[in-house]
Amino acid sequence: MIRSIGIFGGTFDPVHLGHRHLLDEVIAAVSLDKVFIIPAKIPPHKMASGLTSEQDRFEMCELAFSDVDNIEVSDFELKNEGKSYSYYTVKHFRELYPDAQLYFIMGSDQFLTFDKWYKSAEILEMTGIIAVSREDEISHEELEAKARELSGGGSSIIAVNAKPFEISSTRIRELIGSGEDASMYLAPKVQEYIKENNLYRQEAKDPMQDKKKYGKYKDIIKDMLSKKRYQHSLNVADAAVKLAKLYGEDEEKAYIAGILHDVCKELPQEEQLALVLRSDLDVCEIEKKAPPLYHAVAGSVYVKEKLGINDPDIICAIRYHTVGCGNMDKLSQIVYIADLISEDRDYKDVKKMRKYAEQGLDKAMLEALKFSVADSVGKENTIPVSTLECYNDFVKANSKKEV
Ligand code: ATP
Repeated sequence: MIRSIGIFGGTFDPVHLGHRHLLDEVIAAVSLDKVFIIPAKIPPHKMASGLTSEQDRFEMCELAFSDVDNIEVSDFELKNEGKSYSYYTVKHFRELYPDAQLYFIMGSDQFLTFDKWYKSAEILEMTGIIAVSREDEISHEELEAKARELSGGGSSIIAVNAKPFEISSTRIRELIGSGEDASMYLAPKVQEYIKENNLYRQEAKDPMQDKKKYGKYKDIIKDMLSKKRYQHSLNVADAAVKLAKLYGEDEEKAYIAGILHDVCKELPQEEQLALVLRSDLDVCEIEKKAPPLYHAVAGSVYVKEKLGINDPDIICAIRYHTVGCGNMDKLSQIVYIADLISEDRDYKDVKKMRKYAEQGLDKAMLEALKFSVADSVGKENTIPVSTLECYNDFVKANSKKEV
């Protein structure tokens, strides 16, 4: 009889030995009759970079855990349309196993921000959580404190005391992308699979060629924007490419997101709003009531619907270039900052801002957000929740560095 079940969700792009380490520690600490590994379709908080195919991620998970008893890789999230919200996944398993104790298994990064998850309180009514630290900086005490906080509602929250294995899928993609060895972070079978299927290899790119290839976007914005804003968009694209080069981001995406970031800014307000209302990214009530903020959301819908751009990174970068968001990805940060430091900008502190941008994205984002939040406070404007989440993230990122 199945009495206790672990649910372990993730992007697994690729699945690595950090995931395996987490699961081994969990299994050693808590008696589980079965564990479901659940690759996500579209991670809602993560602003996914072009994900590897569902089939590849699924197969790599099967290979990574094939030697562990009672583990099943589930395609539940992959076969459902739209974003993968854990709430629906947990609900599904709750209904499937009404009498079992469920545990959502996660690393400390997810655990410490669990409150931000969609319907986190409702999730806790259906499942417990088992969390493991994934980085040395996060102590067991910190996890235990969070566990106490979350268990207030009566759910079973377990912080497993284990030494972290510091590795991420992002790092592995970077290593393989630049032709370096990532074998110490991968199960041998997964490594073989990656090699055979030529995953994560990056073709050498000539951004100048990309610029020519995407010259059509220049024509589009030329038609849709005033001369001044057209020039601003070109400058932002240039600044974004420079930052992408500096911080190891995709230059082609930076160029496209930069050049198109304001594509809808001069559309009539009703047309912008109509696009905003069709967005499948979260748009809060404050944004729906603030016409100056429409163009970013509208732009993200426009590039998808009218220009056929489906890249989630580019869409996110355009969507969040005015308000920012929690867990903001690198490309979005780059476009956000490029918009502030482009050649045509001449506000009082622009030189300082350009310096910050050279010193590091975290610092530049914090300074930009401090200004943005203070400015809104000064004008007694309401502030979108995503801006505050973004601000909090960068306060935290910078304070960690200073310790
Ligand atoms: P990416 O770098 O693409 O963000 P990731 O390495 O964080 O990916 P995910 O697939 O997003 O991997 O992670 C799935 C789950 O595994 C999350 O709960 C995450 O906290 C946890 N996890 C990932 N890496 C580790 C690790 N090294 N140690 C412990 N837990 C981890």
